[in-house]
Amino acid sequence: MVPWFIGSEIYRLPVFQPPHPLAVPRAMLACDVCCALDWLPARNYLESPIATSAELAAFHAPDYISALQQAEVAQSLPAELRARYRIGMESNVIHPAVFRRPATSAGGILFAADLTADGGVVYAPGAGNHHGMPNRASGFCFVNDIALGILRWRAMGVRRVTYLDLDAHHGDGVEAAFADDPDVLTISVHEAGRWPRTGTASVPERGIWNFPVPSELNDSELRFLLEARILPLIAAHAPEAIMVLPGADALADDPMSQLSLSNNALWDAVRAVRGLAPRLVVLGGGGYNPFTLARCWAGVWAILNDIEIPDALPLPAQDLLRGVAYFRAAGRNPPTRWFEQLRDVPAEGRVRDEVKGLCV
Ligand SMILES: [Zn+2]
Repeated sequence: MVPWFIGSEIYRLPVFQPPHPLAVPRAMLACDVCCALDWLPARNYLESPIATSAELAAFHAPDYISALQQAEVAQSLPAELRARYRIGMESNVIHPAVFRRPATSAGGILFAADLTADGGVVYAPGAGNHHGMPNRASGFCFVNDIALGILRWRAMGVRRVTYLDLDAHHGDGVEAAFADDPDVLTISVHEAGRWPRTGTASVPERGIWNFPVPSELNDSELRFLLEARILPLIAAHAPEAIMVLPGADALADDPMSQLSLSNNALWDAVRAVRGLAPRLVVLGGGGYNPFTLARCWAGVWAILNDIEIPDALPLPAQDLLRGVAYFRAAGRNPPTRWFEQLRDVPAEGRVRDEVKGLCV
C-alpha cells in the first residue's frame, strides 16, 4: 500500500511575522522539495480537510474552541479571555488563520487516522502540535491535533497506540492527554532543561517514558537510546498503531535547541519504527530553519517510500531552496550544503554516560 502525503495550501499563508520562529516556510516547502525531486505523484497527495468544532471537542473544551474562532474573526480577544486561554499571549499570537490553520492540521490527522483504519502509512508534516492543552494554547500550539488523532484511532477500536516524540521539546500535551490510559504509550526524547521543562522522569506504570537528553545529542546517542530502550519498549507494547513526531528542531542547524543531530538520525528512527505496527502516521512538529526542516522532512517521505536519497540534489530542488527567505542571521549567507545535498553530514560521536544513564 503506498503512503499518503497530507498537506494544505493554508500552510503557505504568511500568517506569522518575523521574529516569530514560525515565520518561515515549513511543511509545504518539504512538499515542494518532494515534488521537485519527482517523489510525490499527484495521486499520493491529499489536501487536508478542516476539522469541525464537534471534532475538535473530542479533546478541547467547547468554550476554548469558541474563543479561538472569535479571535480569528475579531483578530483580537478581550484581556480576560486572552489570560484564560493564553490565545494572544506569549508566542501564541492571534493571526489571520488562528482557528482555521490549527483546525486544518487537526483535520489532517483525523483524515490520517481514517485512511489507516485497515492499516497503512500516512505522512502529515503540517501537523504535530504536541503542546496543545484541552482549554488553552501553549508553545505555538492552539489545537492538540495529535491527541485528537489518537482518540480517533481509539474510537475506531484501535486499542494499543504508541506515540514517539523526537522533537527537541517535551511532548507535554500528548503525555497529559493519555497519562491515565495505559494502552497509549507516550515516549518523548527532548533536551533536558528546555521549555516547557516537564518530562524529567518516566512513569512506566502509566505508559509514560521520558528521555531528557543533554545538549549536543549526537546521532550515535539517539541510536543508542532507540536500540537500548525505545524500540524494545515499543515492541513489548505491540502497538496496533504508531504516531511519530520527528520534529526538526533537534537538528544541529536549528536555532531553537542545543541538540546536534543530523537528519540521518531522524530518518533512521522513522525507518526503525516503520514495521512495528500495521498503522503508521508520521507528522512534522518543531523545526525553525526552513532549509534544515524541508530537507529533513522530504527525506522522511523518501524513507516511507523506500526511495534512495541522492548524494547531490538535482537542480530544480536546489533552485527551490535557493529561493527561500530566512529572516535569521544564518539566512543572509546560508552554507551551500543547505541547497546542494538533502543529507546532512552524519553526526556520529561518543555515547556519553548521561545518555547511557537514561537507559538503566
Ligand atoms: Zn520543538
